[in-house]
Amino acid sequence: MTRSIIERARPEILSLRGYSSARMEAKGGSVLLNANESPWPAPSDRSDALHRYPDPQPPALIARLAAIYGVAPDSVLAGRGSDEAIDLLTRAFCRAGIDEVIVSPPTFGMYEVSAAIQNARVVAVPLNAGRGFAYPFAAVLAAVTPETKLVYVCTPNNPTGTAVSREDVLALAGALDGRALVIVDEAYIDFTTAPSVIADIASTPNLAVLRTLSKGHALAAARVGALIAAAPVIALLRKLMAPYPLPQGSVDAALAALSDAALAATGTRIRTLVAERDGLAARLASLPDVVAVIPSDANFITARFVDAPAVYRRLLAAGIVVRNVGHHAALAGCLRISIGTPEENRALLDELERRRA
Ligand SMILES: *Cc1c(COP(=O)(O)O)cnc(C)c1O
Repeated sequence: MTRSIIERARPEILSLRGYSSARMEAKGGSVLLNANESPWPAPSDRSDALHRYPDPQPPALIARLAAIYGVAPDSVLAGRGSDEAIDLLTRAFCRAGIDEVIVSPPTFGMYEVSAAIQNARVVAVPLNAGRGFAYPFAAVLAAVTPETKLVYVCTPNNPTGTAVSREDVLALAGALDGRALVIVDEAYIDFTTAPSVIADIASTPNLAVLRTLSKGHALAAARVGALIAAAPVIALLRKLMAPYPLPQGSVDAALAALSDAALAATGTRIRTLVAERDGLAARLASLPDVVAVIPSDANFITARFVDAPAVYRRLLAAGIVVRNVGHHAALAGCLRISIGTPEENRALLDELERRRA
């Protein structure tokens, strides 16, 4: 009999009743005198829709995300980017000063920041830099203690662009059943052919998947992301979540971006971007300034340069901004380059090649 992952949450969160907002307590009706809202729209509000509090989890958005992800609506939590889900998971599961999260650097910084804010211990089990930044499955399992609550797998990983196999993730989750939640961050899944584990949440209670509209769907400013997990995990996090986390304008923008027509156009853009990425990777690899290009499944390329700070400054002087990721121990001398439009990528290459002469 396996233990439910929910029992691993903080006891005070399990017993928390959570805030009950006016919008949650009463549905329906047409004379709305229950939420101290203005009865009139703001004089500036052309949409005529901003004077009422939004639905905490708008059913149309949840239904659309669930349909696209192929999961049940009660397995979807929509929030302010996937960053909010990372924060909620950390606060729900980690007892301050006691519990641990496992991260595998070099990786996305927010896992560690959220843990630090909650005073959870961060256990770093580095990616295997000598083996193409492979995820260290055996070492992660060996690092798990009774205090381990969350294990992060970022795939494709930021900032290396490397992806892990679905079978390996499922084996990890299986080994940690009832002990720790395996959080698979699929922020860059739109740019890879590597399979998602999203369909596996139905059969894997301690698996959670992060998705975002910030990257492939081009809505970074709308701040909409989702957590996909077993219904009890979603219900638990809703108790911690802000009463009205999703601004109406962001919900509208998300629904528009998820229409069939928008998804088709987005798919075309993503195919262009992936072709640009692969072309750029080949060109970068041929430059004498470049020591190595890490094969990427994401919408960026991380490459090691002979003199990264000099290249960074040179590009900046030409108005081209890339990210220096050399502060990661395993990425000394590396720059991370987001894939731009074909014109922007051309400008980057022109600048890098110009100095060859
Ligand atoms: C960009 C990114 C996100 C997305 O964050 P949002 O809060 O949804 O904008 C999540 N995870 C990783 C690894 C990222 O690089």
